Amino acid sequence: MTWGERAAELDARDPLASIRDEFVVTDPDLVYLDGNSLGRLPARARSDVLATVDDDWGDGLVRSWDHWVDLGSRIGDLLAPLIGARPGEVAIADQTSVNLFKLASAAMAATGRTDIVTDEGNFPSDMYVLDSVARAAGGRLRLLPADPDPRMVGGALDESVGLVSLSLVSFRSGALLHQAAINEVAHASGTLTLWDLSHAAGALPVGLRVNGSDLAIGCTYKYLNGGPGAPAFLYVREDLQRSLTQPIAGWWGHEDMFAFATNYTPAADIRRFLIGTPPVLSLVGATAGIELTARVGIEPIRTKSVALTEWFIELADRALTEHGVDVVTPRDAERRGSQVALRHADAWPVSQALRARKVIADFRAPDLVRFGFAPLYNTFAQALQAVEITAEIVASGDHLGFPAARRGVT
Ligand SMILES: *Cc1c(COP(=O)(O)O)cnc(C)c1O
Repeated sequence: MTWGERAAELDARDPLASIRDEFVVTDPDLVYLDGNSLGRLPARARSDVLATVDDDWGDGLVRSWDHWVDLGSRIGDLLAPLIGARPGEVAIADQTSVNLFKLASAAMAATGRTDIVTDEGNFPSDMYVLDSVARAAGGRLRLLPADPDPRMVGGALDESVGLVSLSLVSFRSGALLHQAAINEVAHASGTLTLWDLSHAAGALPVGLRVNGSDLAIGCTYKYLNGGPGAPAFLYVREDLQRSLTQPIAGWWGHEDMFAFATNYTPAADIRRFLIGTPPVLSLVGATAGIELTARVGIEPIRTKSVALTEWFIELADRALTEHGVDVVTPRDAERRGSQVALRHADAWPVSQALRARKVIADFRAPDLVRFGFAPLYNTFAQALQAVEITAEIVASGDHLGFPAARRGVT
């Protein structure tokens, strides 16, 4: 069987194949493998936003707040089972970076400790925020090597460390960390854990509760297809909620916001982690993607994700290794998320040459090209096309005709 025939067979047997039709696809030839950066537009998100503009804003005006006011908690409850949380443990608000600041600050205040542990492979915004929170607590951010195992995390802990904050799936390597074991070593030294699920939510089942996680945050605009700049989520385990106070006391976190009281009393539930008025259009836009993910089910999504990345790695090994391209993502499917990162010395021009050939992957400095596989709309044929076109580019030196210096959005 040729690779093309195998791809066709894998696509024909794919139980999620028809879900692709629920997305707006304006260019069927575009090989979009950047859903880990910005997911595609669900057709229903488009119609929901347009209806909200016309009916709720245009006609309902301020009266629409009656149903807008708890939109964030309704979507949070919808998202909760996808990440292993219970209703009432997830809120949709603000940005991932802001939620990280709120929860990390709350955790440090609760433990009274000074230092935070993360790893060098974490997303830069996470490192900057965690560093500022640790310094405000009178301590510092301690950096482990990228993608640490539980033993390395345990080795970095002592009675000064109040918080371990890691990305469950690395935005760079795609490695999936051992959540349960890391929570266990952290708790053994009285340290709280805060997980960034940006590259996990919507791509794989996350067992926040069964794994003993304390806190989590993440984006809705990646695998959850929530739309550019869509509000982020936060998770606080139920039994911790009342013992944590976040640093930004705003009226949406008040126990009775419409009392317009002079003094702040935080809500007793997850609402205490809110700050101010949510961006309603973006919130509405984020709903369809989360609903679709819940409807399809996170287990079938993970099954297809593993099959897609397995297929891509097999093809990359056969067609790309000889051209100086290496797979840096873990080969054990249990230890990776839904992206595969390839290393090449000319990764930036290669990513540009791919774009010129309608393969959208992205570049991560200094030498990685990331291919994100979104099981709701990517196909096995697209994975094959991406490898074949990459092979043509690096074999012919096509990429050498593109600027070597990085510029713009990568
Ligand atoms: C995408 C991503 C972010 C983005 O944060 P914003 O506040 O939405 O800009 C943060 N952390 C991680 C791990 C990410 O992957």
